[in-house]
Amino acid sequence: MAKVIDSKIPAGPVPEKWKEYKAHQRLVNPKNKLKLDVIVVGTGLAGASAAASLGEMGFNVINLCIQDSPRRAHSIAAQGGINAAKCYQNDGDSVYRLFYDTVKGGDYRAREANVYRLAEVSNNIIDQCVAQGVPFAREYGGMLANRSFGGAQVSRTFYAKGQTGQQLLLGAYSSLSCQVQAGKVKLYTRYEMEDVVIVDGRARGIIAKNLVTGKLERFSANAVVIATGGYGNTYFLSTNAMGCNCTAAVQCYRKGAYFANPSYVQIHPTCIPVHGDKQSKLTLMSESLRNDGRIWVPKKIEDAKALQAGTKQGWEIPEEDRDYYLERRYPAFGNLVPRDVASRAAKERCDKGFGVNNTGLAVFLDFSESINRLGIDIVMQRYGNLFEMYQEITDVFPGEKACEINGVTYYKPMMIFPAVHYTMGGIWVDYELQTSIPGLFAIGECNFSDHGANRLGASALMQGLADGYFVLPYTIQNYLADQSIWGKISTDRPEFDAAEKAVDAELDRLLKIQGKRSVDSIHKELGHIMWEYVGMGRTAEGLKTGLKKMHELEKEFDTNLFVPGTKEGLNIELDKAIHLRDFFTMGQLVAFDALSRNESCGGHFREEYQTEEGEAKRDDENYFYVGCWEYQGKGNEPTLIKEPLEYEAIKVQTRNYKN
Ligand SMILES: Cc1cc2nc3c(=O)[nH]c(=O)nc-3n(C[C@H](O)[C@H](O)[C@H](O)COP(=O)(O)OP(=O)(O)OC[C@H]3O[C@@H](n4cnc5c(N)ncnc54)[C@H](O)[C@@H]3O)c2cc1C
Repeated sequence: MAKVIDSKIPAGPVPEKWKEYKAHQRLVNPKNKLKLDVIVVGTGLAGASAAASLGEMGFNVINLCIQDSPRRAHSIAAQGGINAAKCYQNDGDSVYRLFYDTVKGGDYRAREANVYRLAEVSNNIIDQCVAQGVPFAREYGGMLANRSFGGAQVSRTFYAKGQTGQQLLLGAYSSLSCQVQAGKVKLYTRYEMEDVVIVDGRARGIIAKNLVTGKLERFSANAVVIATGGYGNTYFLSTNAMGCNCTAAVQCYRKGAYFANPSYVQIHPTCIPVHGDKQSKLTLMSESLRNDGRIWVPKKIEDAKALQAGTKQGWEIPEEDRDYYLERRYPAFGNLVPRDVASRAAKERCDKGFGVNNTGLAVFLDFSESINRLGIDIVMQRYGNLFEMYQEITDVFPGEKACEINGVTYYKPMMIFPAVHYTMGGIWVDYELQTSIPGLFAIGECNFSDHGANRLGASALMQGLADGYFVLPYTIQNYLADQSIWGKISTDRPEFDAAEKAVDAELDRLLKIQGKRSVDSIHKELGHIMWEYVGMGRTAEGLKTGLKKMHELEKEFDTNLFVPGTKEGLNIELDKAIHLRDFFTMGQLVAFDALSRNESCGGHFREEYQTEEGEAKRDDENYFYVGCWEYQGKGNEPTLIKEPLEYEAIKVQTRNYKN
């Protein structure tokens, strides 16, 4: 019998749902909160904000992360900003508009009710963070400043220079530290969750590895929340921090949590291009740069060839010979089209031979016009640290004067190219952010909930903090309301024994292979397969080839991997081997989902399904659903379960960024 998905979306009109929910949902009796333990795995913006809030509300929280401090979570990397519908610019913004832009930006594949709630609580996030002392950029008059991000025609992005994630994380960390000091949160740094423990069908704990001693430890609780980030590093090269992994999420998937929309992977248009085979990381140049930077390639193929050969420099090409292709193709949004659209447009130009670096895989991001208009000081105030970062990596300073042609001063442009950046897919959650395993919740980038097939810039931080500060601490209570009867869950139960034994056996298995290949060499090969066959442009044939190659490489991993050292003490290679084992499961899941979705939408582009102009061609009749995958064992095709999407407030239509 087909499985039915209950997304627990409250009845009533979309703008009323969250109010209704909040008014009628069960809450935990304050005295009982003291008896209830919650494990929060992760201390990024989602995890730290959730742990701090749950502690403040009176629950006993166990909070773990793999880094040596919560402040080093990947969220620290976020540069550009966080969205909110404050309408400080008086430019017509509203909760409804943010809701609409997000649903449209996600190519009509997000759950309407969740997105409306996100837009509603966006404003609370800014108030909360200002109260914590987050130093958002301000106008001369003291008002919080805003800038624009892709997919929006209003300025609603709040920022702290190019370090928004870091500043927001410091705010969340202060709240978390306060609860640690109060004894409500117990913090475990350098601990990695290896498995979730299920007792009588409910998540009741986890097995974690102390990364310093190598020991496996057991933690029990009345509920488990995972906030462990995305799976972008499946592609090896991505803008994600090197430590980002999907082990916790994949392990939950193996234990029965559905994984939703894995094929929705975001390729960000403005990253520093790949420069060699020895690279292990790609660097993002924030989307905020598209506020003032203009993207172009030469109009003439001979100019492109000269650039590729190194016989010409970008600034030598006069204005009339430049093709500002985003402004040409999308006059209404110009350089601020959503990421999936901008990335595909860059690929299209490069595929046609117009790329501007020696590999032919780059386009220019040029600040000449804005420096001439605003002056270098203002441009530096806005993007100084990003210009410096670009210079440190490429030795080119984008604010450096290059030449003058016909009275126009030209500055050295940046070179950029799309790279894997964010994953919209994730563990399936209902309206309460609960997974398909009762008692297991997922928040932040590791769930699938709000961005459909494409996330708009500055909306990940918004979602992570919405989940952590305002949604989960409320919705989890509906589950916890009657859980105090269970009291402390003993870690001596056979379910904990079995889970720990299985993790230990896996560590032994990986160590015993003693083959010839390093983890990185296999991971790099997996990354090539992913980019080639499951990357920006996908075809049914390519996906099948990708799956076959992944199976073969997984066999190589299982038989020819070499992990030095032992399981006692610190062993980073062993930790990476576990991550790679799970990237294999993830990579195949992305490919299965992409193969099953015979349409193009957002970040999922099947080359067979495009319009004459090369835009994504959706098929709402057959694919208007969330694709949820249920694990069926290693090497077996997972089962697809569909959660139909229902839209009542927004008319589903073809995305238009042209006019
Ligand atoms: C370069 C860059 C710039 C970005 N800029 C922006 C921006 O300007 N605006 C925006 O909205 N978004 C931006 N994003 C996206 C955004 O930063 C992330 O989506 C967001 O920070 C994710 O937060 P999170 O809390 O869900 O996960 P993370 O910040 O990834 O945190 C994951 C946490 O889980 C822990 N963890 C992971 N696995 C385990 C395990 N097995 N056991 C225990 N702990 C574990 C880690 O230690 C960490 O604490 C950017 C992303 C990148 C890569």
